[in-house]
Amino acid sequence: MADPRGFLKVRERQTQPRRPVPVRIMDWKEVYERQQAGTLHDQASRCMDCGVPFCHQGCPLGNLIPEWNDLVYRGRMGEASERLHATNNFPEFTGKLCPAPCESSCVLGINQPAVTIKQMEAEIAEQAFDDNNVEPILPQRHTDQTVAVIGSGPAGLATAQQLTRAGHTVAVYERDDAVGGLLRYGIPDFKMDKSILDRRLEQMRAEGTRFRTNVAVGKDISWDQLRRRYDAVVVATGSTIPRDLPIPGRELDGVHFAMEYLTESNRSVAGEAVPDQIHAKGKHVVILGGGDTGADCIGTSHRHGAASVTTLAIGKEPPVERPEHQPWPMMPTVFEVQSAHEEGGDRTYLASTVEFVGEEGRVTGITVAETEFVDGRRLPKAGTERTIKADLVLLALGFTGPEPAGLQQQAGTEFDDRGNVARDGYYMTNTPGVFAAGDAGRGQSLIVWAIAEGRACAAAVDKYLMGETRLPAPVAPTDQAISML
Ligand SMILES: Cc1cc2nc3c(=O)[nH]c(=O)nc-3n(C[C@H](O)[C@H](O)[C@H](O)COP(=O)(O)OP(=O)(O)OC[C@H]3O[C@@H](n4cnc5c(N)ncnc54)[C@H](O)[C@@H]3O)c2cc1C
Repeated sequence: MADPRGFLKVRERQTQPRRPVPVRIMDWKEVYERQQAGTLHDQASRCMDCGVPFCHQGCPLGNLIPEWNDLVYRGRMGEASERLHATNNFPEFTGKLCPAPCESSCVLGINQPAVTIKQMEAEIAEQAFDDNNVEPILPQRHTDQTVAVIGSGPAGLATAQQLTRAGHTVAVYERDDAVGGLLRYGIPDFKMDKSILDRRLEQMRAEGTRFRTNVAVGKDISWDQLRRRYDAVVVATGSTIPRDLPIPGRELDGVHFAMEYLTESNRSVAGEAVPDQIHAKGKHVVILGGGDTGADCIGTSHRHGAASVTTLAIGKEPPVERPEHQPWPMMPTVFEVQSAHEEGGDRTYLASTVEFVGEEGRVTGITVAETEFVDGRRLPKAGTERTIKADLVLLALGFTGPEPAGLQQQAGTEFDDRGNVARDGYYMTNTPGVFAAGDAGRGQSLIVWAIAEGRACAAAVDKYLMGETRLPAPVAPTDQAISML
């Protein structure tokens, strides 16, 4: 433990600096800047090395947080990176994007602001790249086993990297023209610049992972063909069916799924020509639904130069402080202030959307009513309707599950009651040799879960192929013990 009295001496929690709002909304560069070494050292000293580090349990990856806090405090950033990479393939993604459930379960957080764990992770990862410390890790031996990973989001990438390093020949199939899943075409550059993704892919390519883009499995090549060609197949296709809102006026021009808007914006920021791009310039934008997707639409709309940005949520406004029914060390639902929320826009809660209204086929407004709870159901309260001006409506209502993509017909693989790919305690589906990881199996979730599942799924695949495995398995998809792997 670095400084036994550190948490008493440094009581203030200081997170990474952010670029000023008026400056950052003029471009697509990242909002967060690097932290100064002195501040980082002081913040690291707040970690109490509390003996029973609940942060390990809060993090799906089981990150060894007190260990790397101690190393940061001592300025041993290279070793900190080694400990960080021991449990996380892509700490630069989670350091920038994770909502940090670890911080919710930090023991210091019981009566003081939690340790700035996420900032520590981000800085260790960036320093490692600055120091050319992130090198390809080549397998010690090659097996004669082959694996196809379908989908190149964080789950597919983590699975592929682990299995490549275990010596298997791994090909990642991606239907998009570029690798990365939601890291590429969902999450905007102001949250994570695409160069951060590309430099990690460079490492993966150098290690031997192969990428096949523009191949939609189930259409361009069947699941059955893949099963015959490879010794194991991993479904990491994400949860991509957007939840719709089939109310009057849904067909009007100007009402779009959030992902249509974000994908086009990401392509345009990457320098692609996007004909008839959905654009918010000068428009009154209304976003239905909160969460990460909603926040990304807010930030993107402001950078497009929207006239106004309003978010409508059907639920109650969450409390600012941790509510009693979600005590420490749980991750509470509290009023979220992401960087995009700092940039402006209104947020209205308990708003039920009744219909989209329009003129000449284009949306001009939304009729909303207050939400009332009847028998536990949320319904629009009669007599409270009002119409809000809207030229662009973005539906950010979540995702209902993975696309079927012929998986059931071609490979006989079953889906569960929630519409996700069904798997057992070891990530295997009912089709022998076919596994599922990430949002495709657990439903819409987080990057940290996608990486954790990717790592654990890789261990399960390795054991299936070789009879035993040395790969770590941080999480089980069900309550069944993964320790048997
Ligand atoms: C807009 C948005 C913002 C988000 N922001 C955050 C955030 O800030 N922090 C956070 O922790 N989480 C965030 N999330 C959630 C997070 O991105 C996901 O949980 C995570 O990406 C899931 O990873 P995955 O690998 O399972 O799937 P995905 O990232 O969805 O990747 C699946 C990939 O599979 C490909 N694919 C699908 N079907 C096929 C097929 N038949 N053949 C070939 N390829 C196929 C898709 O094209 C895609 O590239 C966000 C989600 C969205 C939508």
